[in-house]
Amino acid sequence: MTVEPEGIECAGIVSALRGEEPPWHWDSINHPLGGGWLLDRPGFGERLRQAVRGSGLQLLEPARLLNLEPGWRLQLDRGELRCDFVVDASGRRGVVARRLGITRHRYCRQRALVGWLSGPAGDEDATLCVEGLGRDWGYTCRVAKGRRVAAVLGPAELEWRTGSLIRSRLKDYTLQGKPQILPADSTLLEEVSGPGWLALGDAAATSNPLAGHGLFNALQAGLAAAHLVGATAEVLRDYQEEVRDRFHRLLIG
Ligand SMILES: Cc1cc2nc3c(=O)[nH]c(=O)nc-3n(C[C@H](O)[C@H](O)[C@H](O)COP(=O)(O)OP(=O)(O)OC[C@H]3O[C@@H](n4cnc5c(N)ncnc54)[C@H](O)[C@@H]3O)c2cc1C
Repeated sequence: MTVEPEGIECAGIVSALRGEEPPWHWDSINHPLGGGWLLDRPGFGERLRQAVRGSGLQLLEPARLLNLEPGWRLQLDRGELRCDFVVDASGRRGVVARRLGITRHRYCRQRALVGWLSGPAGDEDATLCVEGLGRDWGYTCRVAKGRRVAAVLGPAELEWRTGSLIRSRLKDYTLQGKPQILPADSTLLEEVSGPGWLALGDAAATSNPLAGHGLFNALQAGLAAAHLVGATAEVLRDYQEEVRDRFHRLLIG
């Protein structure tokens, strides 16, 4: 199953994270794999779901996990389901781990105020723009024609603001609705796997969005998990070590 990303190929990064003047420019051509994608996240999620449906797999949708009992008996908002193995891919909520009473350790407190903006269809900027805002920082990029995302991130109370670099990119744009507060802290589950279950992606560990690793990690772990379903306790312990190692390398690096 292949899902081609549909988005804007990232041309590079323009950064004044530490107030650099002029801003620092990094061109995607310098990376052997290119600069990645500026994705419309909900659209990408829908394309993944379409690919799952297209491959003949059953997708229960919408479905919310309300509770689970070892065994496994899953209580969904659309009925009950029994299975032998559970993969928790529920993002930062980590609903399975939460129901199992597993502690989530927080290493760095951060929140994000995220806004979606609409503007001129003629904007062709394909860079990710990052800027320091005192103790906070912000970013913006285009995610589709005439559509941008912008965010302010920091450890405490956040207000919607921009520095000159981001402001210049948003000048013809209008906020669509109220910016949303989202958790953006670095966290790691005490245990990311156990008998008959594992957690992956943000459900297992979350890192600073500045690292830009979240989606890659979640997709990579999703592919790996296909081979871990039903694995022995020893293999699941190795998986746990891998997740911990990667998390600590990201936290330190
Ligand atoms: C402000 C911000 C900016 C970011 N920027 C980047 C970036 O530039 N690059 C990058 O790679 N990463 C970035 N990230 C991180 C990235 O968004 C995550 O790492 C990534 O989305 C993790 O994917 P996931 O599938 O594990 O979780 P999610 O994308 O959170 O998906 C979890 C899914 O589980 C579902 N779910 C939740 N609870 C239940 C339930 N009870 N029952 C059933 N389903 C449930 C949710 O509806 C959702 O569909 C950013 C994060 C933030 C907060």
